[in-house]
Amino acid sequence: TFPTLDSDFYGFESRLRPEELDKLVALREFLESTVRPVANALWERGEMFGPEVHRGLADLGIYGLAWEETRPFENSAVFRGWVALELARVDASAATLVGVQNGLAMGAIAQCGSAEQRAEWLPRLASAELMGAFGLTEPLSGSDSAQGLRTVARRDGDSWVLNGSKRWIGNGSIGDITVIWAKDAEDGQVKGFIVPQDAPGYNATAIPGKGSLRIIQNADITLTDVVVPEANRLQNANSFRDTAAVLRLTRAEVAWAAVGNSIQAYEAAVAYTKERIQFGKPIASHQLVQELLAKSLGNITSSIALVTRVSEMLDEGTQGDQHSALAKEFTTSRMRETVAWCREALGGNGIVLDYGAMRAFADAEALYSYEGTREMNTLIVGRAITGKAAFV
Ligand code: FAD
Repeated sequence: TFPTLDSDFYGFESRLRPEELDKLVALREFLESTVRPVANALWERGEMFGPEVHRGLADLGIYGLAWEETRPFENSAVFRGWVALELARVDASAATLVGVQNGLAMGAIAQCGSAEQRAEWLPRLASAELMGAFGLTEPLSGSDSAQGLRTVARRDGDSWVLNGSKRWIGNGSIGDITVIWAKDAEDGQVKGFIVPQDAPGYNATAIPGKGSLRIIQNADITLTDVVVPEANRLQNANSFRDTAAVLRLTRAEVAWAAVGNSIQAYEAAVAYTKERIQFGKPIASHQLVQELLAKSLGNITSSIALVTRVSEMLDEGTQGDQHSALAKEFTTSRMRETVAWCREALGGNGIVLDYGAMRAFADAEALYSYEGTREMNTLIVGRAITGKAAFV
């Protein structure tokens, strides 16, 4: 029998296929034995996971799950959502590591690459031989990257020359390749390029001082006359629409990860409040503490229902940008409430890493803002409701 999570109050997990449930159990066991024991210490020191985590995730087939060339077995988008949830339930940096590798870097190549490019790069990324990154955001362009990119690609015979800068790029300084999004100097359209991180002119440094997702590094990158062969231009990325198609899928998975991060704090609060005695009894028996737990579970349960449906829509072919935008906006907003309530339920100990709520509380802030801020996702939904884009 599958050990379902108490926090999956309505038993959504049980709707997965047996093979998917088995895989989820294997992932859960791996995360509990390999990631949870080290996560607080790594977070405090701002250090990355060791190679055993990267290797273990690849051996479980987690990096290649979504793509035809690399998936270890037929699986549903709902299952892949549960994978993101399980990862974030233990550590949101681990969920982000997988999101960057599988969703953003491999997703860009899978969705925008030619058959040859898919065959060349996807298996090497799925096996963790290579670590990938996705470079869209820039120092001067975040929410407006559809229009505002400054990085330029200039065609030069059989090559392209890239100039510009990027900011916030996960694994951009410690990986092997970065998919760089740049404007074609000639037609002004956004195109994607697979750039080796050791290419001359590619310089990256980790952003210091982060108070969120401290187990993953984000880079500032400068590109100075970086020469990329035409063979490394993503052959089916012709405009920002193609970039947005990659983000539609990853946004839905961040929505799932937000639920996992909420559950991380919720489980800590349930365990703590049953043990902690005040006024002669466990604080879990005080009515106002029960209210914190009940409304947290309400947020988690409604979020699971929502992300389950948005992933079903992906498999049915009916998911649009507005659907994944609403899912991301909704679950990250509910997450922000939930981690605050759960941290509160731990009193002073809530701000100490060891008690299990603080890392989720801090990591929530990055999940809330990356892959489209709450405002931008709200405006994507607003456009779908009204037919009017408020952000161009
Ligand atoms: P801005 O765009 O400057 O926005 C600042 C504020 O203004 C936000 O609240 C925003 O919602 C609001 N705002 C802006 N325009 C409007 C408007 N029209 N109406 C209403 N409000 C508006 N990027 C990558 O390319 N690759 C990565 O791997 C990556 N990883 C990341 C990891 C982390 C931890 C973080 C924090 C970011 C990462 N990003 C990455 C970048 C991320 O996607 C951006 O931070 C995000 O899109 C917001 O852009 P910005 O930070 O420039 O904020």
